[in-house]
Amino acid sequence: MDIANVKVGILGGGQLGKMLNYYGNHWHLPLFNLDKSENFPAGINAYHFTEGDFKNYDDVVAFGKEMDVITIEIEHVNIEALQYLESIGKIVHPCSEALITIKDKFLQNEFYAAHSLPTPEYKSFASRSDLLTSIQSHDTKLPLVQKTRGEGYDGRGVKVVDSMKDLSDLLEGPCIVETKTRIAKELAVIVARNDDGQVVCYDPVEMVFNDNNILEYLYTPANVSVDIQASLLKYAKSIIELYKISGLLAIEFFLDTDHQLWVNEVAPRPHNSGHHTIENAVTSQFEQHLRGILNLPLGDTTMLQPAAMINILGEEGYEGKPYYQGIEEVFKIPNVHVHLYGKPETRPHRKMGHITVCGNDRSEIEEKIKKISKIFKVISK
Ligand code: ADP
Repeated sequence: MDIANVKVGILGGGQLGKMLNYYGNHWHLPLFNLDKSENFPAGINAYHFTEGDFKNYDDVVAFGKEMDVITIEIEHVNIEALQYLESIGKIVHPCSEALITIKDKFLQNEFYAAHSLPTPEYKSFASRSDLLTSIQSHDTKLPLVQKTRGEGYDGRGVKVVDSMKDLSDLLEGPCIVETKTRIAKELAVIVARNDDGQVVCYDPVEMVFNDNNILEYLYTPANVSVDIQASLLKYAKSIIELYKISGLLAIEFFLDTDHQLWVNEVAPRPHNSGHHTIENAVTSQFEQHLRGILNLPLGDTTMLQPAAMINILGEEGYEGKPYYQGIEEVFKIPNVHVHLYGKPETRPHRKMGHITVCGNDRSEIEEKIKKISKIFKVISK
């Protein structure tokens, strides 16, 4: 691969695109982003930024035709355009076939069921009213989890229905319902592959929730048994092979209260659960994705130390130009790494950045997290 001349196009110019660009910059890789505005996070360090809509067929084709390799930092891109680009010989990673399955939660679950991978029991419904009728006639039992078939993101396309009084909150549109898993732990594994068939995994990460069930931090190494760890890695390797994906695949799992693992969903790109790899792994997930899509030898995934990642979210009650209150205090804490995405406006719960907290053990890391959550907030003045 002639990395001084290969043109790599990324559909998307958000924070994941920005962090991919940063690693592309290390190699002076000609890396191009397509997204609506150059003011998006990746606009700052793109080799070249094209303004356009990654959901629009013509925009994606016009952009992709100039590239040698095309990848994504978000799944919800125009698939027909990717299929066309593949048909004219462009390298597209992840391939359109995998993306079609992954974009639709029903097809994803069908895929796991067809390959005898453990996925919660599921049914599909054409509309909210079909689902309501099925619940009211006792064909579908509560509790359940409703998921829209199309664009869900960060929990927005997901509704947990515990009792009849939750029915007024059901989501509109085609959906699936899954039986509600009794979750003991939510886990994620990032796995990478290249076209030569090399496959490597990062250590599993565990999501830690607070008492109100809000994600507090992600932690690695996940506190699971050696057997569970081995099963996670085995599933991750076989799922990336089955999808025939080159580049990264992040896989979210549930471990239930009976110690059974379930595959929840996947994302074929860099992922929130791998941000800690920037400081904490020999090879960051972003560099690994570039290695994977360019069919370069994959990098060492060894973790250097225990670590946690906290998302920096816009504080409730504040909108406008962000002000990072208490950031100097955060910089005083050793082995803590701040990443700001450069979004021009903060909004409640908007992802404005992340912080990787490294340390010798979990209690040291938790102490640091406690301190950070006390002193640091994104507000606007
Ligand atoms: P998103 O794509 O929005 O991240 P997920 O499928 O990961 O959606 O679901 C969001 C959250 O909803 C999960 O992290 C989990 O806490 C809960 N959830 C999803 N599916 C189930 C299920 N089958 N059983 C129990 N909880 C679930």
